[in-house]
Amino acid sequence: MPSSSSGRRAGAAPAAPRALRAGDPCSRLSGVGPKLVDKLAGLGIERIGDVLLHRPLRYEDRSRITPVAELPWQSGPALAVVRVEASEVRHGRRRSLLVTASDGAARLWLRFFHFAPSQQAQMSAGTWLRIFGEPRPGVYGVEMVHPEYQVVADAAAGQAITPELRAVYPTTSGVTQPRLRDMVDQALAQLQRPEFWPPALPADLEREIAGKTGPISAQQALHTIHRPTPNDDLGALIEGNHPAVTRLAFEELLGHQLGLRSRRRQIKTERAPALGDAGRGLAPLFEQLGFAPTNAQRRVIGEILADMAASAPMLRLIQGDVGSGKTVVAAAAVLTTVENGWQAAFMAPTELLAEQHYTSLAGWLEPLGLTVWLITGKRKRDDAQLAAIEAGTPGVAIGTHALFQDALTFGRLGLCVIDEQHRFGVNQRLALRNKVARRGFTAHQLIMTATPIPRTLAMSAYADLDTSVIDELPPGRTPVVTVAVPNTRRDEVVERIGRAVAAGRQVYWVCTLIETSDKLEAQAAEAAAEALSVALPGVRVTLAHGRMRAADKQGAMAAFKSGEIDVLVATTVIEVGVDVPNASLMIIENAERLGLAQLHQLRGRVGRGRVESHCVLLYQPPLSDTARRRLSVLRETGDGFAIARADLELRGPGEVLGTRQTGAATFRIADLMRDGDWVERALTVADDVLAYHPREAEILIERWASAGGAYARV
Ligand code: ADP
Ligand code: MG
Repeated sequence: MPSSSSGRRAGAAPAAPRALRAGDPCSRLSGVGPKLVDKLAGLGIERIGDVLLHRPLRYEDRSRITPVAELPWQSGPALAVVRVEASEVRHGRRRSLLVTASDGAARLWLRFFHFAPSQQAQMSAGTWLRIFGEPRPGVYGVEMVHPEYQVVADAAAGQAITPELRAVYPTTSGVTQPRLRDMVDQALAQLQRPEFWPPALPADLEREIAGKTGPISAQQALHTIHRPTPNDDLGALIEGNHPAVTRLAFEELLGHQLGLRSRRRQIKTERAPALGDAGRGLAPLFEQLGFAPTNAQRRVIGEILADMAASAPMLRLIQGDVGSGKTVVAAAAVLTTVENGWQAAFMAPTELLAEQHYTSLAGWLEPLGLTVWLITGKRKRDDAQLAAIEAGTPGVAIGTHALFQDALTFGRLGLCVIDEQHRFGVNQRLALRNKVARRGFTAHQLIMTATPIPRTLAMSAYADLDTSVIDELPPGRTPVVTVAVPNTRRDEVVERIGRAVAAGRQVYWVCTLIETSDKLEAQAAEAAAEALSVALPGVRVTLAHGRMRAADKQGAMAAFKSGEIDVLVATTVIEVGVDVPNASLMIIENAERLGLAQLHQLRGRVGRGRVESHCVLLYQPPLSDTARRRLSVLRETGDGFAIARADLELRGPGEVLGTRQTGAATFRIADLMRDGDWVERALTVADDVLAYHPREAEILIERWASAGGAYARV
C-alpha cells in the first residue's frame, strides 16, 4: 500500500490531536493504515510501544566502505564503491546479467538473475555504483548476487555515506523493512517526552542494574537496540548480552512476573467455598484404591486440602512425572469437594483420557456414594444430566474441554481440575475464568502437568500458581530399557514382538506422522495393524486411533487392558494417561520426528508393571544431529527432569512450554536461558515492587503485556 503522509493528514481530524502515548494503537503513526494494522498484529505489534519493543534480528554494517580487495575476508554483507567495466547477459543454465566492476585496486563480479532491460542499460561501462551485498566466491573471483545498488556520480560521491548500522527486523509478508524502520523512527522521536515512556523501574532497581551493566536509561536502551552507533558492540546486541538488551530484558521479566502476580492477587481476593474435611476423611478412598499412596502423594494431597479449606480460591499446580500417580491426588480433592456438597469438573486433554479417568474415578468414588458424570464432545447430549449439573447436584463431571462449552453450566462448581495442562496452553487455562467464577463464588483450581519443568522456567510460566511436586514414583516400577533401531531392521522388531507375546506380555505399537492429520495417522495405524497381523499369525492385534468411534476405541482399550488383546496399534492418542501395567514393550515408529517430551510421555505407558519393560525407538535413517541427540537422551535416562532440561537446551523455553501456538511466555527481548540470573532477580523483587511501587508496576504490566494479552491483561 503506497502511503503518502500528506494524504493521511488530509483525512485526519482538524483539531490538534492529543500527543502520542506508547499505549496508543500504532494506526496513529503516519503511514499506518488498516491493512498494515492487521499485518502488524501478526508480529505482536498493536500499540506504538510495541513497535519499540520489536527487537531487530540483526544489523547491517553500512558504516564504512570496504575496499574490494578486502571483501573475501568480510563476513556478512558489505558496502563497496565500484566502477562498471563491462556488463553482459549470460545464457548459461540460467540466464543472468553479469557485471564486471572494480574499485581500481581489485575486481568484483555482480550477478543478477532477475533484471529489467533498463537495469542492464543503467549498468553500462564507466558507471559508478555504490553496492551493498554479501560477497562470496564466484567463478571469476569475488561475486555478489543481487546486491542492493545505487548509481553515483563518481568515486567521491560513492564514498560519501552517512555511517549506519541498519537494524533488520523480524517481519511478515506485506510489512517491508523500510516501513518498519519508519515506524520505529516515528516512535523513537517521541521517546524524550516523559509522558510517552514514563520511567518504570523503581530507583533502587535502576541503580542495581546500572551497577551491573553501567548506567543506561530505558530510552537510551531502546535507541541503542534500534539505532546502534559504530561504537556499540554489535555482537553483544545480537547475542543479547549488551547492557541495552539486559536493561530491557529485566524490565520485561519483571513486567511479566508482575502481570501474573497481580492477576493472582486479584483472584485470591475472590470468595471460594471453604471445603474442609466433611467427616470421614480420605480413609474410605484409600481403601478403594487397593494400594497405599506414596509419601509424595500424601504430602501433595495435604497441600491441596489445606488450600481448599480456605475461603480464597486455590491456585495450585501439581507437577509429577509420568506415572507418579496424579489421578489419585486429584481424586482426593474431588472427594473432598463433593462431600462438602459442591461440584467438581475434571478436564482431560483427549477423549480417550477423559474416558479412562471416568473409569478410574467412577471405580473409586461411586462405591463411596458419589455421582460421576462423563461429558465428551462425541457423546450424545444427555439433557437430564446437564439439568442436574446446572441445578447444582453434587458430583464430579469428567470430560474434555467440552466441559466448558456454553451449553453446560455448573450450578455449584467448587473445584476445577485440569489434567495435563501443557496440552492446553495458558490461554485456555485463563479462558476458564468465566466458568469457574459464578454466582459470587470462584472455584478452587488444581492444575496437573507431567511435563517436568526446570524451576526458573516453571516460576516464570506459572508465577500465578502455587506448586506441588510429586517427586516419587509408586514402588515396584522398573526402568524402561530403551533402544534406537533403524527402520531397515523392522523385521527383527516384529520378531521381538512375537517373542514378547509368546512370553505373555502385551505390546504397544505407536504410529506417528509429521502431518497432524488424524486421517493420515489413522491410515498409517490401520496399515501397521494389518502388516503385524499378517507377520504374526495367532497374535491378537487391535487398533485405537482418533478417528474411531468413542465406543470402539474404548472397547479396544478395555480389551487390551483386560488382556484379550496382545498388541495395541495406536496413534499418539495414547500419549497421555493410558494405563495398562502388563504392557511391557513399546515400539514407536518414526521416533525421530517426535520431541523429547512427547517421546518421554509415550514411553511412560510402559514400565508400569513388575517385569522389565522395553521401548524400541524405530527411526528412519539418516538421523539429523538433533534427532540423534534426542534419541540418545532417551536411551540414557528415564528421569523426567533430566529429559526436560535436555529438551530445554535443544528446543528453547517457548517450545518446551508448548506455548508456540498459544503465544504466551514468548518474550520480546528476554530469554529465559540467557537471562537466567535476571529471571531470579525478577522473581525475588516482584512482590516488593507490587507492594511499594504500584504505579511503576502498573506501567510495567501494561508496557510488556503481549499483543493478545495472555498474561497481564486478563
Ligand atoms: P500420572 O501421574 O501419569 O497421571 P496415574 O495417576 O495415571 O499417573 O497413575 C499411574 C498408575 O499408577 C495407575 O495405575 C495408578 O493406579 C497407579 N498408582 C498411583 N499411585 C500409586 C501408588 N501409590 N501405588 C501403586 N500404584 C499407584
Ligand atoms: Mg495422568
